[in-house]
This record gives sequence, structure tokens and C-alpha cells, in this order.
Amino acid sequence: MKKLAVVAFGGNALLKSGQKGTIDEQETNVYETCTHLLNLIKNDIDIVIGHGNGPQVGNVMLQHEAGEKTYGIPKQPVDVCVAETQGSIGYMIEQQLRNVLEKENLERDILTLVTQVVVDKEDPAFQNPTKPVGPFYTKEEADKMADGKNVVFHEDPRGRGWRRVVPSPKPERINNRKSIERLSRDGNIVVTVGGGGIPAFYVEPNKLQGIDAVIDKDLASSKLASEISADEFYILTDVPKVALNFNTPEEVQLDEITVADAKKYLEKGHFSEGSMAPKIRAAIQFVENGGEKCIITHSADLGKNNAGTHIVKNK
Ligand code: ADP
Ligand code: MG
Repeated sequence: MKKLAVVAFGGNALLKSGQKGTIDEQETNVYETCTHLLNLIKNDIDIVIGHGNGPQVGNVMLQHEAGEKTYGIPKQPVDVCVAETQGSIGYMIEQQLRNVLEKENLERDILTLVTQVVVDKEDPAFQNPTKPVGPFYTKEEADKMADGKNVVFHEDPRGRGWRRVVPSPKPERINNRKSIERLSRDGNIVVTVGGGGIPAFYVEPNKLQGIDAVIDKDLASSKLASEISADEFYILTDVPKVALNFNTPEEVQLDEITVADAKKYLEKGHFSEGSMAPKIRAAIQFVENGGEKCIITHSADLGKNNAGTHIVKNK
């Protein structure tokens, strides 16, 4: 049977640090990342693509904010902003990947799905919002908007002002997972769980509703990979390998680690929260749920011999 892989695009695949986010910049970046996917596609591996949306959803929220101030157009909640970015980023990936494939005379349908990810309303993350989103405000503005319950602001550690923080709950279930699996096993390339998915929860049985939260894109892609029984899970980022003692003279780059190693290094604090730690947790989760291996790599190395760090089952 053909192999199925989930590939999660990191922020860099869409926007590089220092760039403003023009459409030209984004299309160039996406095109380049898509050329690296050829290594998998030419090996006859079926793929599903997940992606981040940090800068993009931040910009959408700013646009809503400005639209409300200037024109009185009501701003929309976080879940709707995430949905917007799934559409716009999915469109960019779909178009650029098609350009890459057509140049190689390869034919695939590429389908973008606007995807809800169900979270548990009892998730402890709702008691402790941590994920900064949207514009920066002055303390006075933030105080006016805060309601002491659902709308919470934290001061930016780099002194840029006050920013809304939202919960980052665990992804419990990917909606439409059976269709995602079927479409991808049929040879179509599916773009889904963008930005970690649109967070939704059951307010009561049979009543699904969006919620102001942001799901980690690596954990959501991992959940998806398990739910569609993918063989491999690739996390594309901007470093060639995962390292111990990262960014110190003692740095050691890792080629292959077992889940037990990964847990040990995680506990020892080798991986930063908010960047590498969630990727490692996503990798562990995938392999523990039956996946063959997770590969964390720079996108440009995809398909090269010895690319990235492989997280594998315990031996
Ligand atoms: P992405 O947009 O791909 O999710 P992140 O910035 O969230 O990117 O995560 C990748 C970053 O993780 C790297 O650029 C690197 O600075 C950081 N990082 C933290 N700890 C490590 C580690 N132990 N090994 C490698 N990279 C690490
Ligand atoms: Mg990240």
C-alpha cells in the first residue's frame, strides 16, 4: 500500500522573519516550500498538508479592528479570523503547488478544507489563557476591553504594549477526518487544519460553536496524522535538526531519537516552550499513537538523505 504522510508547514514556509507579508513575498515562499514536497510526491507518497497562520491571523485581526474603528464594520471573533486564514493560505498553497506540479507534468487535485477542530470545554487551558493574539494596546485600552473572564490581556514581555491572550486547548478531534483520509488515499493533496484548526466545542450536546482560542498547529497536525493513520509525519521548520543544548557551544544536533529519549530531553528543558517543545510533544504523540516516525526538518532538506531529526518508537 502507498504511504500517507502529513506535512506541517511552519511559519517560515509562508513568511520569513523581516518580511512584511506582501502577496509577492508569500507566493515566493510558498512556491519554494512546495518544490521540496516534490521529493515525497515523486516517491509516490500521498500527502496531507497542515500549516501555521500566526502572522496572518494577527494581521486579519488588525484589519477587523481598523475596519470597526474606521467604518463601523463589526469585528469578528478569533475562530472566524482563523477560518479566513485557512481559506487565504490554503488558496496560496493550492495555487503554488499546482504551479510546481504542472512544471513537472504531474497531475494531482489539491483541495483546501476549512476545518474545525473540536476541543473540550473542560480543558484546563480555558482557565489559563497563554497564547498572545492580535494587536497591541495601551494599558488603558486593554483595561477597558478586559472582562476579567473571557477577554484577558497580558503585558508583552518585550514592552510593545498589552495584548489579548487566549487559551490554547488540546485538539480532541478533527472534523471530517474520514473524508480527509479518503481524499488523500485517493491521491489528492489535501490542505487542512490550517492554523491548528478552527477551535470549536460543544456548548451542549448537538450544539457545536466556535470559541476564542488558538490550537497549536503541530499538535493539531499530529492529531490529524493519527486519526487518518498516516505512516509518517513531517514537521517543516527553519532549523535543519533538533538539538540538545540548542544555541550554546555544547550544541549537539540529533539524527534519531526514540520517544523515551524525547521525553527525557523534554523534561531536562532542551526544547523551548512555544517553539520546539510543542513539536517534540506532537512527535511523541504521533509515534505513541502508532505512527512509524516523525521527522522534524528544514523544508529545504526534505527528501535528502539523513534529513532532519527522526523521532521513532522505543527499541
Ligand atoms: P515554526 O514556525 O516552524 O513552528 P518555531 O519558531 O515555532 O517555528 O520553532 C522553530 C524554532 O525552535 C527554531 O527556529 C529554533 O529557534 C527553536 N528551538 C528551540 N529549541 C530548539 C532545539 N532544542 N533545537 C532546535 N531548535 C530549537
Ligand atoms: Mg511554531
